Amino acid sequence: MRRQVNLRVEEMPRRWYNILPDLPEPLPPPRDPEEGESRLAALPEMLLAECLKQDSSTQNWIDIPDGLGELYAQAGRPRPLFRALNLEKRLDTPARLYYKAEFYSPTGSHKVNTAVAQCYYARQEGYERVTTETGAGQWGTALAYAASLVGLKCTVYWVRAVYDWKHDRRNFMHLLGAEVNASPSPKTDFGRSLYEKDPNHPGSLGIAISEGLEDARRDPKAVYCLGSVLNHVLIHQTIIGLEARKQFEMFDDYPDVMISCLGGGSNFGGFVLPFVRDVLKEGKKIRFIAAQSEVAPNLQAEYRYNFADHAEITPLLKMYTLGHKAEMKPIRADGLRYHGCAPILSLLRHLGYIETVAYPADERYVFERARTFIQAEGYLPAPESAYSIACAIDEALKCREAGESKTIAFNISGHGFMDMQGYREVLGLP
Ligand SMILES: *Cc1c(COP(=O)(O)O)cnc(C)c1O
Repeated sequence: MRRQVNLRVEEMPRRWYNILPDLPEPLPPPRDPEEGESRLAALPEMLLAECLKQDSSTQNWIDIPDGLGELYAQAGRPRPLFRALNLEKRLDTPARLYYKAEFYSPTGSHKVNTAVAQCYYARQEGYERVTTETGAGQWGTALAYAASLVGLKCTVYWVRAVYDWKHDRRNFMHLLGAEVNASPSPKTDFGRSLYEKDPNHPGSLGIAISEGLEDARRDPKAVYCLGSVLNHVLIHQTIIGLEARKQFEMFDDYPDVMISCLGGGSNFGGFVLPFVRDVLKEGKKIRFIAAQSEVAPNLQAEYRYNFADHAEITPLLKMYTLGHKAEMKPIRADGLRYHGCAPILSLLRHLGYIETVAYPADERYVFERARTFIQAEGYLPAPESAYSIACAIDEALKCREAGESKTIAFNISGHGFMDMQGYREVLGLP
């Protein structure tokens, strides 16, 4: 039985998919708040021109420039789609399980897919430096990697509470040549105002975003990059689902259920959107399930306009949100702790196309499921990806009970080699 389908480099998709023109209803556009200066007017100062253009593009297919295709190949794309035969056997399920291997990413996550795109365009638009924030550290590492490959400088503002203990990931960013600042830092006006009061301030994603934006705005040679939520990020990530669609053809199978973890929505969207197209345009039937944490179940919250950041620098986006000031208890799967879900996925959820499940905050259930996967398949998932696995196993066990042989596809958004501490502490490893 076939266990893996990989594509040759020449078979890698040459275009990304943009779902905007195919949505059953127009996507509610970003909006300015009633008070204060216009955030919309400030966007061109903040984001790459090409990305801003893609955000509202009405083209279904967006060409991946040749030079960027080479960067994807350099990063190891295309990535395999595996049939989880060992896991199926252990679960004694009639379901067929398949997983996409984003864990082969050189920095550990799917975020490289948009990082190389953004750095490629930044280079083309004449910038010399990129700035960003990072929480768990996966996005900062991906951007540091991409900047290094295309020859840009990179400045990362990293939430101090995480910066202080993830030494390996910090060293990796330094090896890649990035400047890494614990945030709040003395480097920006906003950061300094907090740093001077308390040099041990733990920081937050909102503060780090404000620092990254301030830094980029003050330097005409620098531009700020975002790693999730926005339409252009989801577009870049469709490379995952487009590859998977070709791979399913070669397996001569097609998913009944598609699952991935969801924080801001970039890996989930990248994986499922090309298949959502099949549902919308070709009458296919697929269940799409987003696996979340109880500490940040944004898809179960309200659908309304809200800021994308704590500091209220961004425009308002129509999304499922817990509120931009929501407090979220720390978990190991730190990348899933975000208050809102990407507007495209929020609209699809609103229209009934996306289901969601939220797992308990202590993460034992999820990590136990990940352990089952690790022992059967041998790959170490990122803590976030463990949520995809938990949900896929849940669905496979339901198939066992019902005696149904469904095809279940899940995305493994990253590897966990730099997150052993999470597994150790939650599972009590010696
Ligand atoms: C950042 C991250 C996530 C969550 O972000 P999304 O934008 O929802 O994909 C999931 N998995 C990994 C490995 C991550 O680094």
